[in-house]
Amino acid sequence: MIPVSSWGRLSADPHHVIALKDPFQIQSVVSREPLPGIAHGMGRSYGDVCLNPEGALWTTTGLDHLVSFDIATGRLVCEAGVLLRDIQRLAIPRGWSLPVTPGTQMVTVGGGIANDVHGKNHHLCGTFGDHVQRITLIRTNGEIVQCGPVTNPEWFSASVGGLGLTGVIAQAEIQLRPVAGPWLETETVPYGSLDEFFQLAEESESGWEHAVSWVDCVAGDNTRGLFMRGSSVASSHGPPPKPRSLTMPVVPPVSLVNRLTLRAFNNGYHYLNMRKPGRKIAHYETFFYPLDNLQGWNRMYGPTGFFQYQSVFPPESGRDAVQAMLKDIAGAGEGSFLAVLKTFGDRAPAGMLSFPKSGVTLALDFPNNGPRTHKLFERLDAIVREAKGRIYPAKDARMPRDLFEVGYPRLSEFLEYRDPGISSALSRRLMGS
Ligand SMILES: Cc1cc2nc3c(=O)[nH]c(=O)nc-3n(C[C@H](O)[C@H](O)[C@H](O)COP(=O)(O)OP(=O)(O)OC[C@H]3O[C@@H](n4cnc5c(N)ncnc54)[C@H](O)[C@@H]3O)c2cc1C
Repeated sequence: MIPVSSWGRLSADPHHVIALKDPFQIQSVVSREPLPGIAHGMGRSYGDVCLNPEGALWTTTGLDHLVSFDIATGRLVCEAGVLLRDIQRLAIPRGWSLPVTPGTQMVTVGGGIANDVHGKNHHLCGTFGDHVQRITLIRTNGEIVQCGPVTNPEWFSASVGGLGLTGVIAQAEIQLRPVAGPWLETETVPYGSLDEFFQLAEESESGWEHAVSWVDCVAGDNTRGLFMRGSSVASSHGPPPKPRSLTMPVVPPVSLVNRLTLRAFNNGYHYLNMRKPGRKIAHYETFFYPLDNLQGWNRMYGPTGFFQYQSVFPPESGRDAVQAMLKDIAGAGEGSFLAVLKTFGDRAPAGMLSFPKSGVTLALDFPNNGPRTHKLFERLDAIVREAKGRIYPAKDARMPRDLFEVGYPRLSEFLEYRDPGISSALSRRLMGS
């Protein structure tokens, strides 16, 4: 048994870790497992969706082969442990890109499908699952299910955003999107109220491919932030940025994120960016993955780890709900440097349990300050309930079961596709097994 943590570093429980390396052996490995198991990619989920304390953990990063890539059509077939980084580095210089990417490229294709991840372009491209044409799913009874939007669509819809609970994804076929090259034209626009944020988000939907904003979570009622948008451009602007190998070297004895550092950082960040708004050309790695420059940044929250709280609200209640949340968070003196506010487009979700839905989403990290942090979460949960929103399981380690059940109305339909040989800490907490 080996201690394993996820990105939030809230625990390091023992797991029976088994590396999946050969796609042809997945079937025999998972079907002879006496303990319930769960697939584990890069563990970039913040909470317990990729953990299974005292049980089996099937690590997938050894399933890292690209099987085929058709440069004429942009069709890529790869194993599920391939990193998004490696796909981007293969495809972008050849005029293709992953259509949807989260804020880190250090995640696997399997993790991207099982959490049906979203990026900064939901209004244009939906979620990761919207671009998957086929997956090979291996069940713990030995069955192999080929599914996609056309073949066995119900299996596909259960497995996209299915939190790894329907089987182990061995292989996927993804339709990439044409891009002009590795460069984007970007613009940063400071805003001074939530109304301004929504106006910028609406006007950006037609003119820009990607849009996201940083919001100052200590500003309370005086909402302020920075709206960032970008679109691919054709011109060539030189070599890619040099990879920086900055690493957070140690786990500090206490969290470096506290009331004082938060206020100082947020004032500084806002002031600096206010002084240099406007348009510029940026490389895709700088624009999409700024956090990947500091490896192990999750350690700065100290030995007790941190939570992320990401929720989404429908358009009719979104503005008031976000306002109420920001007020409560500022009042509690909690929150993170990385408070992200963005809108999702009005698109049908690819998966039964996909998180994105039309409206606005707010994501913040919180140092784990024990009961004080949980008290704040209870107040945020009440806002989510009242506003008919939902919480993102990929980021979650503590939402109450009833909030999960009301937030995900297709849960009972999904449960019919669960693999009985698969279980996670999250599934036991939110589904009872
Ligand atoms: C800095 C940072 C930024 C992020 N930004 C975003 C963002 O913008 N949007 C967003 O949506 N998410 C975001 N995330 C979350 C991250 O994209 C997801 O949690 C992603 O699913 C992690 O992939 P992983 O390979 O690490 O999978 P893991 O975290 O290891 O696992 C995630 C889930 O996938 C399942 N899984 C993994 N591999 C397989 C497989 N082969 N077969 C079946 N199931 C499998 C696991 O069982 C688990 O349920 C971010 C995370 C970080 C750390």
